[in-house]
Amino acid sequence: MSSQPFTIGLVGNPNCGKTTLFNALTGSRQRVGNWPGVTVEKKTGLFQHGNQHYELVDLPGTYSLHVGADDTSLDEQIAQTFIFSGQADLILNIIDASNLERNLYLTTQLLDASLPMVVALNMTDVAHQNGVHIDPYELSRQLGCPVVPIIASKSDGLGVLLDVISNLQAKPRCPMRPFQYQAPVERAIERMASVAASRSHHHFNHHLLAVAALEQDAGALGFFSAQEKADILNTVQDLEADLGEALDQSLVNSRYHWIDGVVLGSVTRQATQRINLSDWLDRLFLNRVLGMPLFLGVMYLMFMLSMN
Ligand code: GDP
Ligand code: MG
Repeated sequence: MSSQPFTIGLVGNPNCGKTTLFNALTGSRQRVGNWPGVTVEKKTGLFQHGNQHYELVDLPGTYSLHVGADDTSLDEQIAQTFIFSGQADLILNIIDASNLERNLYLTTQLLDASLPMVVALNMTDVAHQNGVHIDPYELSRQLGCPVVPIIASKSDGLGVLLDVISNLQAKPRCPMRPFQYQAPVERAIERMASVAASRSHHHFNHHLLAVAALEQDAGALGFFSAQEKADILNTVQDLEADLGEALDQSLVNSRYHWIDGVVLGSVTRQATQRINLSDWLDRLFLNRVLGMPLFLGVMYLMFMLSMN
């Protein structure tokens, strides 16, 4: 039995069910404080599974891990700093299944963090109601990490989720980013990652730091010296001349291009049963028996109205 708790960072978009899952897993064993230097609430909780102790950190909800140059969102900065710093032993990425495409954007960034990761596919009840079915095995194959369907508000699927976390804790395995940026961008990322590795603490996420710095992320740039920052800026300008578009836009496009393929491969949509008024009128007027008399009736009515 290990005495040091294993730290799990709970990461996801706003309103995807983070707090609901956090409460379901940790119950009353919660501690509320503040993130260092800011007044944003920090919630951590403890839970046990088998004979292992876990510490769960409820990170602020965010749509992106990288903060634009003129973006000052505290929530994103807090989530990002936590992931950069290597405090988490595992990332629990919670995804709203009824909004898969948008939620996967953050996932594409987390895949650069080289940390063991589990995806909790939440709100599967809402997705089903909308006629959306997601194949968790296919999604898991595409992402390269386990995917567990859950309904956090009913504590559905949490047993499996805990088993999967515990397996990954016993045998840590990091997913590899399953898609590529454009070749010159990949080369620049590798170069900046080795610069970051030579400077920062060994458990920092050099690769993630490199991608964020090339995206002009203020937090990431803070890890580099003035000279290195100038080098990064030059690299970005060269890349943009080469690509013919803004670098951050090129990265966003690469991510969404991959997400489109994932959604195509893992999602089936059922036509919903509800028919609307225009469908109903179509059926009535195109009916084999009633169609013609109805048509003549309407024509007669129009004729009478215009005459009298
Ligand atoms: P957070 O912003 O990520 O912390 O999201 P919350 O945990 O506050 O959840 C947002 C809302 O979604 C709340 O009203 C929850 O009760 C609800 N919710 C969470 N999980 C589920 C789920 O699996 N199914 C359904 N139908 N609702 C959920
Ligand atoms: Mg919350």
